[in-house]
Amino acid sequence: MFFLTKTPYLLKKFYPKQLIWNKSRAEKVIYLTFDDGPIPIVTPWVIKTLKNFNAKATFFCIGDNITKHPEIFEQLKADGHTIGNHTFNHLKGWKTDDETYLANFLKCQELTQTNLFRPPYGRIKKSQIEKILNNGYQVASIEYQDDLKGQESSIKYQDDLQIQESSIKYQDDLQSPYTLNPKPQTSIKPHISIIMWDVLSGDFDPSLKPEKCLRNVLNYTENGSVVVFHDSLKAWDRLEFVLPKVLEVWRDEGFEFGVL
Ligand SMILES: [Zn+2]
Repeated sequence: MFFLTKTPYLLKKFYPKQLIWNKSRAEKVIYLTFDDGPIPIVTPWVIKTLKNFNAKATFFCIGDNITKHPEIFEQLKADGHTIGNHTFNHLKGWKTDDETYLANFLKCQELTQTNLFRPPYGRIKKSQIEKILNNGYQVASIEYQDDLKGQESSIKYQDDLQIQESSIKYQDDLQSPYTLNPKPQTSIKPHISIIMWDVLSGDFDPSLKPEKCLRNVLNYTENGSVVVFHDSLKAWDRLEFVLPKVLEVWRDEGFEFGVL
C-alpha cells in the first residue's frame, strides 16, 4: 500500500489555506490524533494507554460508531480528550456529491458538537471545504425576528444559545441580547477548523511491520506535528505495538501532548 508518512510542503500548498497540517514548530508539543472510533476494545485500550502517560489526544469520531458505542464516546469526553467530526459514514469526498457530503458532516456534527473536522482519507473537494466552513454549525435554531426589538418578553432563543455559546465565537454579539439588532443568519460565521496531518503512521496498512511503523512515526515527528493513528480493528496490530513506545520516547524527550 502506498502512502506518504510525511506530508510534503507542496501538497500542503496545493490545498486551501484553511486546512491545518501542523501546529507551531516553536513549541515542544505533539498532537496525537485517532481516527475512525469509537469502538470496543481498541478505543478503551487507547484511553487507558494515554492515561498511563497522562496524555490527551484528539479523536476524530465516525458518527455511526458514536451511535453504536455511546458509552465509549462519553468516556473519551470524560477523560478530557477532544472530539472531532469525521463524518457519519466515513465518506470519501472525491466520490461523493457536495450535498450528501455536507448532510453527512452535519449528521455527525449533531453528535460531536465540535469545531474540528477531518475529512476521511484526507480526500475532500474544494467545494466541500467551502460548504463545511460555511455550514459548520446548524444555526437554524437561532432566529433574529423583527418583533424582538426591545421586547424582552418575546425573546425565545436564550435556551438554545446557552448550550451553544461556549463553542461558537460570536460571544460579543450576545453580551446584551436585549439591545441586539436583528441580523440575518448569514452574519454568524461558525468557526470550523479542518485538520489534516503532517505524520501518517500507516497503522492501517496490514503489510507494514509494526517495527517499521514505529520507526516511521519516530523519524518524522517533530515539534508541532499532528500525528494520525486509528482506533480501528485494521490498525490494532500496529497500534498496540507502537503507541506505548512512542509515548514513552516522546515523554522522555520532554515533549508535551496537546489537543487541537
Ligand atoms: Zn478515517
